Amino acid sequence: MNFANELNVHVFTIVKKAASELQLETYVIGGFVRDILLKRPSKDIDFVCVGSGIALAHKVNELFAESNLSVFKSFGTAMVKTGDFELEFVGARKESYRQNSRKPIVENGTIEDDQNRRDFTINAMAISLNSESYGQLIDPFDGLTDLKKKLIKTPLDPSITFSDDPLRMMRAIRFATQLGFDIEPNTFEAITKNLDRIKIVSQERITDELNKIISAPQPSYGFKLLFISGLLKYIFPEMVALHGVEKKEGKSHKDNFYHTLQVLDNVAEVSDDLWLRWAAILHDIAKPATKRFSKKVGWTFHGHEDKGSRMVPGIFKNLKLPLNEKMQFVKKLVRLHLRPIALVKENITDSAIRRLLFETGDDIDALMMLCKADITSKNDEKVKRYLDNFKKVESKLLEVEEKDHLRNFQPPITGEIIMEHFGLKPSRLVGEIKDEIREAILEGKIENKYESAFELMIQIAPKYGLLIK
Ligand code: ATP
Ligand code: MG
Repeated sequence: MNFANELNVHVFTIVKKAASELQLETYVIGGFVRDILLKRPSKDIDFVCVGSGIALAHKVNELFAESNLSVFKSFGTAMVKTGDFELEFVGARKESYRQNSRKPIVENGTIEDDQNRRDFTINAMAISLNSESYGQLIDPFDGLTDLKKKLIKTPLDPSITFSDDPLRMMRAIRFATQLGFDIEPNTFEAITKNLDRIKIVSQERITDELNKIISAPQPSYGFKLLFISGLLKYIFPEMVALHGVEKKEGKSHKDNFYHTLQVLDNVAEVSDDLWLRWAAILHDIAKPATKRFSKKVGWTFHGHEDKGSRMVPGIFKNLKLPLNEKMQFVKKLVRLHLRPIALVKENITDSAIRRLLFETGDDIDALMMLCKADITSKNDEKVKRYLDNFKKVESKLLEVEEKDHLRNFQPPITGEIIMEHFGLKPSRLVGEIKDEIREAILEGKIENKYESAFELMIQIAPKYGLLIK
């Protein structure tokens, strides 16, 4: 098989020229090769040469009219950026592993050695950039067949491959999820036998892979693989606790693990936002902790939204996810996820809608997406009824928002205005007056306008013992 045509872009011409000037045997390798075969060409390209990758990168950088070079000396790698392309250069290496680290002992090696150290057959293919074999595919483990069969399979004994570098277990599931592939049975079984090895992998690397799984078009597939293999219990036990159905006196509740995955897929269909997807994953996370049974009403999960929201920081910390505004967003969505649909049960008053808008601010659209995604049931009738109700909330929201502009509500009367007008210092009293004005707006007693709010401030002043100026 020859890929000379696919390589017929400027980038490859330059690398080929640099390699032949330095007389270095050079190949394109890994993800880029896999992805051109899958007809999804990318701009990240890995090159391997038999010799110094850094020397090759220097030469390539010289030959490009416009490019940037960064050298990572301790890794023996270098990167050249040119236009949208990121070109990574490394010397072919041979690796051997120790028991307690996923960092191998590295020696210089041949192209075969380098292909042997790759994680999966589909990631071990190389294309020659050498003049006598330019464009030829070098595929020692028949990755091409696995690509056609849609299989993730390790080139060598999977148990050794995973024990050497257990991050590869996460990568196997990640590639399966991103590409919609199966994991070859022996490879999958080896994951189930090496679960404990995941302990030597840093949490950051595990979470990177997890986030890639979550960002895939159908993330539930990855979570099912994580769950069935047993990995999920090691990396995210809170989620495993959602699994299972209990039955008492003929009453059972839904399996919250599979429900959560359904909600996650539903959200993934309408949004690429990683954090909204995390909110979907965590929306019912406190259900196991709040589960109760009573003869009268059966199973309940009272307060799971508040407790779940309080669990978010701890989970983010364990998973080394950022403890910043993204976490706050997830916390907020978990806390409010029942609110839009709860509105339907009461009759939808303007003031309830105003309060929701006031609390969610700009995150209202995300909350509505989560809430809609949360409508799952085996009973189609029920889903339809809920969705109809949901539409009512949606249109009411639009109506109130248009009228009152409450999204990102800033009270028209600020603390400063109150202090200045009555000659007050910062104090509790100022806060109380402000709150009363805000409540009046949310309740719809006055309009969300400076004049109306000012008038109310004057009106209520005597009640607070204030003299009107
Ligand atoms: P993508 O960049 O789309 O995630 P990729 O295949 O390029 O996919 P990278 O993580 O960029 O993945 O790695 C590049 C190549 O390096 C892989 O294709 C694989 O050949 C090799 N590789 C990466 N990580 C490992 C690992 N832990 N063990 C063995 N080989 C690896
Ligand atoms: Mg890559």
